[in-house]
Amino acid sequence: MKDVDGRTIYLKDYAPPAYLVERVDLTFVLAPEATRVKSRIRFTPNPGTASRDFFLHGEELKLVSASVDGQAVTPAVTDEGLTCEVPDAPFTWEAEVEIAPARNTALEGLYMSNGMYCTQCEAEGFRKITYYPDRPDVMAVFTVRIESELPVMLSNGNPGASGAGFAEWHDPWPKPAYLFALVAGELVNHPGSFTTRSGKDVELNVWVRPGDEGKCAFAMESLKKSMKWDEEVYGREYDLDIFNIVAVDDFNMGAMENKGLNIFNSAAVLASPETSTDANFERIEAIIAHEYFHNWTGNRITCRDWFQLCLKEGLTVFRDAQFTADMRSEPVKRITDVIDLRGRQFREDNGPLAHPVRPESFVEINNFYTATVYEKGAEVIGMLKRLVGDEAYAKALELYFERHDGDAATIEDWLKVFEDTTGRDLSQFKRWYSQAGTPRVSVDEAWKDGTYTLTFRQSTPPTPGQPVKDPRVIPIAVGLLGPNGDEVQETTLLELTEAEQSFTFEGLAAKPVPSILRGFSAPVILDRETDNAERAFLLAHDTDPFCKWEAGRALARDVLLRMLNEGAAPDKAFLGALSSTLADESLDPAFVALVLALPSEDDLAQAQVDAGLVPDPQAIHAVRERMRDAMAEALEDQLRAAYAAHQVPGPYRPDADAAASRALANTALMLLSRRDGGALAQTQYDTADNMTQQLAALSALLTAGAGEEALKAFEAQWKDDRLVMDKWFSLQVAHAEPGDTAATVERLTRHPAFTMKNPNRFRAVFGAFAMNQAGFHHDSGDGYRLMADWLIELDALNPQTTARMCSAFQTWRRYDADRQALIREALERIMAKKDLSRDTAEMIGRILDA
Ligand SMILES: [Zn+2]
Repeated sequence: MKDVDGRTIYLKDYAPPAYLVERVDLTFVLAPEATRVKSRIRFTPNPGTASRDFFLHGEELKLVSASVDGQAVTPAVTDEGLTCEVPDAPFTWEAEVEIAPARNTALEGLYMSNGMYCTQCEAEGFRKITYYPDRPDVMAVFTVRIESELPVMLSNGNPGASGAGFAEWHDPWPKPAYLFALVAGELVNHPGSFTTRSGKDVELNVWVRPGDEGKCAFAMESLKKSMKWDEEVYGREYDLDIFNIVAVDDFNMGAMENKGLNIFNSAAVLASPETSTDANFERIEAIIAHEYFHNWTGNRITCRDWFQLCLKEGLTVFRDAQFTADMRSEPVKRITDVIDLRGRQFREDNGPLAHPVRPESFVEINNFYTATVYEKGAEVIGMLKRLVGDEAYAKALELYFERHDGDAATIEDWLKVFEDTTGRDLSQFKRWYSQAGTPRVSVDEAWKDGTYTLTFRQSTPPTPGQPVKDPRVIPIAVGLLGPNGDEVQETTLLELTEAEQSFTFEGLAAKPVPSILRGFSAPVILDRETDNAERAFLLAHDTDPFCKWEAGRALARDVLLRMLNEGAAPDKAFLGALSSTLADESLDPAFVALVLALPSEDDLAQAQVDAGLVPDPQAIHAVRERMRDAMAEALEDQLRAAYAAHQVPGPYRPDADAAASRALANTALMLLSRRDGGALAQTQYDTADNMTQQLAALSALLTAGAGEEALKAFEAQWKDDRLVMDKWFSLQVAHAEPGDTAATVERLTRHPAFTMKNPNRFRAVFGAFAMNQAGFHHDSGDGYRLMADWLIELDALNPQTTARMCSAFQTWRRYDADRQALIREALERIMAKKDLSRDTAEMIGRILDA
């Protein structure tokens, strides 16, 4: 990793804090330009360390006064914090600082959004609020007093005294500063309640801006379902009298699990049939669950240091995926998670930004809230569960909660509970946490006298800082099908631990067809010599939904690559396989929709790289378009029938079954718009009574080149709804032709409703831009230049969002020399910007150095 200003922080340098905090009293006197924060902190020397260096983090603070045990002191203050002479005995630190929330555009610490005060402290935002040991292994009991004329004033824990101009809160559970939260504003609440299984009544609230109160019911129901599920599945009860959720428009992330006071990006909480799609509903349910589940996996048991981020995030993502699978369709959830993992995490693992699930160094921790830490971190938990079995997993979790409640824990602590529960040695398994890169597993088969042998070989390519990898423990779920399609060997788990290893199946009547990596049992790339006849066979007969879908996906990829690389025509056998899938009424319509979706442009580009070719994004785009035209032509009658059969009668419901029907009907609509010039889509647009149908129709009209009027009508209808307008911005970028994408983005940035101060709006345009591969990577280089121009602008306002957007460039080495030169020029231009944030400097440095 590139060392930016000598600030690189290493896991191996961890040292315990010199002083611990017993309790904290904070008083906030709120004012937009000059908020006063008074702190009174009881420190105790840490008996666990000999160090007595007293250091408090603090950034962008104006220190007004400080005292130790009532005696005024003059600390030595730098840009990063302060040091001071203190006793080697318990003492009370008091300080007053001034901050300006109205001028905080980075959205870290205390800031303002539409006149409302709110906070974001993870990972290191608290140090922008007051001087404090801002590290997760310092846990303390917080009492907070807020003074303001605003009607609603919230903080963590349970409410204390309140009256005209003030409110007090007390959180009895010791917590690190990153879980601190404060909100004050003109807010209205959607109330609810929940009775825990031990009979405790909990008050629930979803707080929103006036006018949004009609969009809270779904979030409230999701919260109650989450609370119940965590009791039933993990035995975890809620532990305060009140649970508050607040929706904020300007937010860098999805949501934040502050103790008892979750703060959400409004896009991750507000929902109504008219304004939210099925995907939005599902995402909101999952994020509400995710943040709620953190109360135990993150808050009651937190991380010792930020290198352990996956301890709370991997586990909590795994838990929210289990929840979604239980609430909705387990196979569909698994397949969509794998698509997402390959699209974001495999890409990261395969490029300059690759890092282990538990990184060993960082410059800016904000840059490690990644798909690797979150999604691969969750995959690692899933593998562990598969390896030890469901029962042992449940026992290990029970022990984890019992042993580490109140702790700031590590990955070592986590693995130890599994070792103690099962007696297994997990030292080899631990490589999943320390080695970056996606393992490749190749497989050969042999058949002789009723014995079938599978031989696996594993290897992991080099990644930055890790040239050589050792073999990992890879759980491979395998089933076998007979020649007639019947299953002759049900799913069994093979444990690959060597670089090369064989497994045999005996007593078989005929050579079987293997179904390998069922349920995507490990986050690896499987290489197997096979042909399209076998893929079509598995698509038709496999009993494992993931492998069934995977066979169709591999078939599609192969057919598209042959069109791309050899100029082949759209494959008739492939179209026939799709036709059979559409005709199979036993299948979940959401599954059929997934089979009809082609591999992404990025997926095809990577497949070309794997084959030693240089991808041409515009050619890839053209081939996918051609295949979709061929699908629409070949399947037209069936698509019309599917569209008609999957119209959902009655009022809109966001449940999985209704959403599945709409998913298939709208997939059919998208294809049919290639045949009828958008006629059916226009009818759906004109009659839609919910956003899923309206947006799908608009998208189909744009596909047919007939969406101009509908775009205007959509804007007129929704101009006052910021979340719906984000969709309007995104959709136009997503549908722009490759040669016109940069111009479309530029035009949208001139729209009066475009603002880069709102991360959702910025991402609606520039996130969609990065996703439009053929447009962003257009050979003119306009895409790179435009992105660089805007990232340079945004960095001065919001380093965190800027740094994340830099990952748009992470695949640059796969392209031709001309494109690489254009990208290098763009990246170097960003790097040369005066006062570039360390967030962005670290990201560009990593992308360029590799
Ligand atoms: Zn989380």
